[in-house]
Amino acid sequence: MNQADTEIITAILTEGGYAPAEDEHSADMVLLNTCAVRANAVDRAGNVLSHLKGMKRRRKGLVVGLLGCVPQYEREQLFSDFPFVDFIVGPDNYRDLCGIVRSVRDGVRQQSRIDYDQQETYAGIEPVRASRISTFLPVMRGCNNHCAFCVVSVTRGRERSVAFDRVIAEVTGLEKAGYREVTLLGQNVNSWRDAGKELDFAGLLEGVSHAVPSMRIRFTTSHPKDISESLVRVIGERPNLCNHIHLPVQSGSSRMLDLMKRGHTREEYLDKIAMIRDLVPGAAITTDLIAGFCTETEEDHRQTLSLMEAVGYDTAFMFYYSVRPGTWAARNLPDDVPEAVKKARLQEIIELQTAMSRDLYQREIGKTVEVLAEAESKRSPSKLMGRTATNRAVVFDRKSFKPGDHVQVRITAATSATLSGEAVSPEVSKSAL
Ligand code: SAM
Repeated sequence: MNQADTEIITAILTEGGYAPAEDEHSADMVLLNTCAVRANAVDRAGNVLSHLKGMKRRRKGLVVGLLGCVPQYEREQLFSDFPFVDFIVGPDNYRDLCGIVRSVRDGVRQQSRIDYDQQETYAGIEPVRASRISTFLPVMRGCNNHCAFCVVSVTRGRERSVAFDRVIAEVTGLEKAGYREVTLLGQNVNSWRDAGKELDFAGLLEGVSHAVPSMRIRFTTSHPKDISESLVRVIGERPNLCNHIHLPVQSGSSRMLDLMKRGHTREEYLDKIAMIRDLVPGAAITTDLIAGFCTETEEDHRQTLSLMEAVGYDTAFMFYYSVRPGTWAARNLPDDVPEAVKKARLQEIIELQTAMSRDLYQREIGKTVEVLAEAESKRSPSKLMGRTATNRAVVFDRKSFKPGDHVQVRITAATSATLSGEAVSPEVSKSAL
C-alpha cells in the first residue's frame, strides 16, 4: 500500500511541477514514506532520519518531509524527536503536499497535516507507476477491524471503498495502456463494498475480471472472516482471477486468535482453507504469522506450527510481535513473552516454512507453467524474471522474450523461494488467462 501511495505522491508532486532527482545527493527535497506496522519498520525510518539529519546539516536549503503512518500516530511529537524535519503529512493528506512544500520554502517550518479524511481515496489522481507490466490499484483504504496487535486502524482510519464504476474505469484504462496484471489493494480488501450498487468484493472481482479479460487480476490483503464462499467461487470460475489467496492467520491457537480479536477460531480458519482447496484446486495459499504475541505459551506456538503443516502454505510473511502504541493490546495485555523466546519461536516458524516451501517448489520440477515475464532478472541480464498465476517467482532464459510476454516455462530447478527453467513456447495459454 505504501508503494501505491508513493506512486500517488509522485503524481501529486509531478502535477505541481516537481521532478524526481537522480539520487538523494542531487535532490532539493527528500521525502520519507513510512510504515508503522512493526517496531522494526519504525526503527528503520529512524535510522534513515539520522542519516538525513547529517545531510541537512551539510546542505543548506534541503527540505525533509516525513510521510505516511509514522507521523500519523506520533503526530507533532516527531518535531521534538527530529527537530530538523520540515513537515509531516499523514496518509489522508497527500493532496496538500505542494502547498506545504511551497510554504516550507517560504520559511514556515514544522508544519503538519495529519487529519483523518473518511472520504479520501485519491480517486481521480493518475499514479506515476513504477512498472509498465504489473501495477497496484487501491480499491479501499482504512480498516474497521481493530485487531489487538495492529496499528493500521489508528494510522489509516476507517474503511472507505472506491466506487465500482471508478474501479472498472481505472482497470479498463490500465488494460488500454498495455498493463498485463493488476493487484487490487486494501488493508482489508475483501470488505470492499459499493452500497449504492449492493455489490461486495466477489461482485467487484467478477466485474473486473469481465472488464479486462486480457489482464491477470490479483488482490491483497484478505481477512479470513470476510472470505466468503461466493468470493472463492468466483476465483475458481473466472480464468483471469489468479489462483493465489493471501490469507493471514497470525496464530494457529484459538486462544491467541481470541486475544488478538481476529473474529475466528483455528477450526473456522481451517474450514475456509478446505473450502478454498475444494473450489479452487491447485490454489496457492500464503499467510502472515506473528510469533510471541501476549501470553503465548509453548503449546500455543506448537499449534501455530501444526496449523502451518495442516494448511501447507506456499510462503509466509513471518514476524515476532512488537507492541504498537495505541493498539488494544498495548493498553490491555502484558507483552510478557521474552524477546529471546519470541525470536526462537520465529526462527522455528521460518525453518518449518522454508522446508515446506522447498518441498512444494521441488515438486514443480518437470512441470510446465505459464509465466508472465515482468523484468530482467536481477542476477543475470540474459534471464527474465516473472510469476506464475500462483505468484511463484520463475527465472528463465530471455531468448527473444520481453517483459509483458506470457511464456510457457518447463521447470528444471527450485529453491525455497524461486523456480527456474527453460522457455518452451511463447504461446499465451488460454487456460491460464
Ligand atoms: N490486513 C491484514 C490482516 O487483517 O491480517 C494485516 C496487514 S498488516 C499491515 C501486515 C502484517 O503485519 C500482519 O498480517 C501481521 O502479521 C503483521 N503485524 C501487524 N502488527 C504487528 C505487530 N504489532 N507485531 C508484529 N507483526 C505485526
